[in-house]
Amino acid sequence: MKLIFHGAAKEVGRSCIELQTQGDRYLLDAGIKFKEGGFAYPEKIINLPDIDGLLISHAHLDHTGALPLFEHYNIICPIYCTKLTYVLTKVLLKDSYKIARIKNLHPAYNKLDLEKLEKSVRFVKYDRDYKHRKINFSFLNAGHVPGSSMILIEAEGKKILYTGDFKLRTSELMKGASPSLHEIDIMIMESTYGARELPERDAVKKQFLDKIEEVIARGGSALIPVFSLGRSQDVLIMLSERKFNVPIYIDGMCKKVASRILSVNDPYINNANVLDEMFNHRVIHIGSDRHRQRVMGSQGIFVTSSGMLQGGPVLSYLAEMWHDPRNAVLLTGYQCKRTNGQTLIEEGYVYLDGWRTYVKGEVVKYDFSGHAGQSELRELIRKIHPKKLIVQHGDEEAVAELAKWAGMNTHSKVYVPSVGDEIEI
Ligand SMILES: [Zn+2]
Repeated sequence: MKLIFHGAAKEVGRSCIELQTQGDRYLLDAGIKFKEGGFAYPEKIINLPDIDGLLISHAHLDHTGALPLFEHYNIICPIYCTKLTYVLTKVLLKDSYKIARIKNLHPAYNKLDLEKLEKSVRFVKYDRDYKHRKINFSFLNAGHVPGSSMILIEAEGKKILYTGDFKLRTSELMKGASPSLHEIDIMIMESTYGARELPERDAVKKQFLDKIEEVIARGGSALIPVFSLGRSQDVLIMLSERKFNVPIYIDGMCKKVASRILSVNDPYINNANVLDEMFNHRVIHIGSDRHRQRVMGSQGIFVTSSGMLQGGPVLSYLAEMWHDPRNAVLLTGYQCKRTNGQTLIEEGYVYLDGWRTYVKGEVVKYDFSGHAGQSELRELIRKIHPKKLIVQHGDEEAVAELAKWAGMNTHSKVYVPSVGDEIEI
């Protein structure tokens, strides 16, 4: 039995791990990585005509973006995932295809491939045992985003746990992961925050809500850029905790994502009723350009995608709001290098219609995350205590620090693969 790392090894992006067992080949995730001018696909992925099955941890494109390639190259095999993962993957893939076409990024598949995906998908329920050819598997809540799963596989008498992206602490939208597993032989784990601790979430939430009140009190508006999947719903649930005397607006793809989340009855969604009340009754949905033009000069709280200000309606709002010092832009998560979000928080400017624009209002970043912080990563390793630990899905520093800690504090044999590496089990 062996594992081959086609991506997400000493990097974040294009998660894709191959498991070979008794002549069968399975893939855990099939993601893409965003890079300047396009996408990076998993290494050697088109040389995989005899894949026997795909198991998908969650809907983010760095775990699913390469799925249409399988249809494109006519690789017919079942794709196992939760219902919410599939429903949300479809929304994200369609949107990324649309954006890729607009930006001339030439995705390696066509629109038809997206439609064809449907026939290969097999829904799995959480916490049930499934069998496919030579493996047994089950999906466990990962606490990361709606539908997200850790995947437990049994093959050749060995137990392999793939964590996908996970969070142990319960957040506004997600119940935290609590895998109670014993005698795991191999754990393949994410390490996004392997080198950094996250601040205590309730304290960050209080600062965030206090800041919105302060901005409103001084006569300004709050612009809240959000990631469509997860963070936008977290923010709506947080906003439900206070009474604001200005309207709350929601705009962009996060609307579609919220309605999809509410359409599936998923056991690990937290506060579904609060989200439903906020989304369907308390916030105002922006439905058209005209509607947006009408409201954006007035005072309000504007929750809109995209979270790193790289596209979406948030840029239209900013074009209207940047010059008023009473306004504030409240970033709600990690900002990648070379994004508008990063230049805004570090240097005070964004590009609006190609013009470098210095924003006069206040800019604050709040460290909300759907990932495990450093202490949670360590907690999971201690709890599962696998015989072999494979650290991946983190940049070089994060991977190295978590691996070093595990080497010093546990009896697990620790591996840190690079892209292309094979690990014999
Ligand atoms: Zn993710």
